[in-house]
Amino acid sequence: RIGTAALAVQVVGSNWPKPHYTLLVTGLCRFQILQLLKEKPYPVAEVEQLDRLEQFTNQHKSEEELGELSEQFYKYAVQLVEMLDMSVPAVAKLRRLLDNLPREALPDILTSIIRTSNQEKLQILDAVRLEERFKMTIPLLVRQIEGLKLLQKTRKPKQDDDKRVVAIRPNRRISHIPSTTEDEEEEEDHDDVVMLEKKIRTSSMSEQALKVCLKEIKRLKKMPQSMPEYALTRNYLELMVELPWNKSTKDRLEIRAARILLDNDHYAMEKLKKRVLEYLAVRQLKNNLKGPILCFVGPPGVGKTSVGRSIAKTLGREFHRIALGGVCDQSDIRGHRRTYVGSMPGRIINGLKTVGVNNPVFLLDEVDKLGKSLQGDPAAALLEVLDPEQNHSFTDHYLNVAFDLSQVLFIATANTTATIPPALLDRMEIIQVPGYTQEEKIEIAHRHLIPKQLEQHGLTPQQIQIPQVTTLDIITRYTREAGVRSLDRKLGAICRAVAVKVAEGQHKETKPDRPEVGEGEDCKEHVTEDAKTESISDTADLALPPEMPILIDFHALKDILGPPMYEMEVSERLSQPGVAIGLAWTPLGGEIMFVEASRMDGEGQLTLTGQLGDVMKESAHLAISWLRSNAKRYQLTNASGSFDLLDNTDIHLHFPAGAVTKDGPSAGVTIVTCLASLFSGRLVCSDVAMTGEITLRGLVLPVGGIKDKVLAAHRAGLKRIIIPQRNEKDLEEIAVNVRQDLTFVMASCLDEVLNAAFDGGFAVKPRVERLNSKL
Ligand code: ADP
Repeated sequence: RIGTAALAVQVVGSNWPKPHYTLLVTGLCRFQILQLLKEKPYPVAEVEQLDRLEQFTNQHKSEEELGELSEQFYKYAVQLVEMLDMSVPAVAKLRRLLDNLPREALPDILTSIIRTSNQEKLQILDAVRLEERFKMTIPLLVRQIEGLKLLQKTRKPKQDDDKRVVAIRPNRRISHIPSTTEDEEEEEDHDDVVMLEKKIRTSSMSEQALKVCLKEIKRLKKMPQSMPEYALTRNYLELMVELPWNKSTKDRLEIRAARILLDNDHYAMEKLKKRVLEYLAVRQLKNNLKGPILCFVGPPGVGKTSVGRSIAKTLGREFHRIALGGVCDQSDIRGHRRTYVGSMPGRIINGLKTVGVNNPVFLLDEVDKLGKSLQGDPAAALLEVLDPEQNHSFTDHYLNVAFDLSQVLFIATANTTATIPPALLDRMEIIQVPGYTQEEKIEIAHRHLIPKQLEQHGLTPQQIQIPQVTTLDIITRYTREAGVRSLDRKLGAICRAVAVKVAEGQHKETKPDRPEVGEGEDCKEHVTEDAKTESISDTADLALPPEMPILIDFHALKDILGPPMYEMEVSERLSQPGVAIGLAWTPLGGEIMFVEASRMDGEGQLTLTGQLGDVMKESAHLAISWLRSNAKRYQLTNASGSFDLLDNTDIHLHFPAGAVTKDGPSAGVTIVTCLASLFSGRLVCSDVAMTGEITLRGLVLPVGGIKDKVLAAHRAGLKRIIIPQRNEKDLEEIAVNVRQDLTFVMASCLDEVLNAAFDGGFAVKPRVERLNSKL
């Protein structure tokens, strides 16, 4: 219970990257704790001062004996200091101090300078009597002198170096010179740098890394703690120790179990599951990771990430997701060099540190959204990570030593392959994950999403029932997406609303047979009622009726989610000539697109709006040229009856949702149909959608994304779909129930397209006759 009172003179340090402070204090005197007054937030105690310097000088009694002791101490101290290099200013100052300071203060000062263990220092501090203090310190001085003599004998030539070190760091330097090994060990226990060194030596890092670490720790030992670099180096070394150089989980892979697990976690997506199983089977047979890197490409919310997680689960590996969306600096992947302030390792190394094993499953999310900037190209950095030939010696700039990534299983996800840099694409095997049909969505909702949401909201199936018709309503009228993410959110909203009802019911419900549905008006009524009956509710609790599940029907849905957001707008929008429905593919899945055209007096100009790319503009020109050249055949005229469609006429073509950039050739047939309707004055069938590229001769060429487009048309309630003849093979991928709902028209030329798009066909011959008679 003895301590030292001290005055804080200076506080240096910083909070970054970790709080790290150095406190400079001047010791004043010893004190003893009489009574502890409080411990928090900081200790406060009643203390008694134990030593006062002037007191010692006045003590006559033991003066003689003390005099002898202090004289003896002084001699040893002088001997010790003179063994050092007097040319060093710090040593010369120490020598002067010995003469100038009162003798009584010397034991404390010298104990703090010479090499002593913490234990010994504490003993000296505990020695309140001056005589005792001198007696205890003298042997320490002698030990130091002996040590120094020994050292001078053995290391004569190096002596100068040691002293130079002394000059820079007077306090530490003396501790550098001497020492018996036991002392050293005792102090080592308290010294975390030494602990760190031990950890480094016992860790299983690579030889190269060990070499670097040992060099760094040597530097660290010589560095004052207040230097910013000290914290930096320490952090570096701690990271090196923490990295899983050799630590891995054991793979447990059994294909049959993997199949069951994948099937349990995910409904539908047969193609993806099949490919994943093949991949895993190859890995089981051939214990070699140098396979392709899988990349799941598909719209958001179709389960790409969750399949990645399932793969990790089947393999019994750790899972880590690295979001790459918006990353535009290569040091995000590969780390910053340690020379920068605030340097950090890249995401790969950070991920490894987080999972703590060297064979996790890393999911590189959104590789198609990697950016590029002045700070280098992150995609190029990823190349090294993903290339099995190179990644066994991946060098993060921060680590500056190679780390073996060959055990890591990488899986990538993307919305589209169009924006993935080609070199990166080349290293991956693309697996398309298309959107879901309505039926699949209903199944997914009832098998996976609803049970998950119920659990998250603390509800049970006894409390809420969502019938399949309601789910279908949510899917068709409240969401318009390829995946199931918004559906999941809507189900979450329903669960929240029901949770409120259930919670209210548990505490306050007094009415015996409440209507089962959570309507809004009902809710208001309920609240006011509660307010009235609150005082009696406690006693009424006993009389609660057995709980009824809350059934979510269409009315409840409307109250919870508001009025439907999407209505079938198709028939309404096709009520005038000059509108046709096209099918577009976007990274978010397929979509239906209304193409609108109008004509007005003018000079034969074509105006295109709706943020179109060059290819789309070309399609529009192609369409007009084809129609102009076939105007007579189809009896198409402009407003003044001329077959030259652009004579005194301007045409405006618009592709709605103008904020979205659109490009690609697949709108060709739609533009032709739309213009044909405009010039013929006939309406396009309201349940027909189409896609296909056109040529100047009127041929229809195949296009991509048929499955997503067909699903979009199905979602929108369309019945007939015109696709290019050569895309017929793509229909096989589409679920049978969707195919049954739709009629497909395979078109190889524009005549067939127009015939299918208009009720009663778009005939050629009879009109030619009429044309003759007119002339
Ligand atoms: P993505 O990564 O494709 O954008 P997620 O993997 O995040 O989508 O999926 C969103 C949610 O939808 C997840 O909660 C996932 O469990 C669920 N989900 C998607 N597809 C399926 C499916 N086929 N079966 C079960 N749940 C699914």
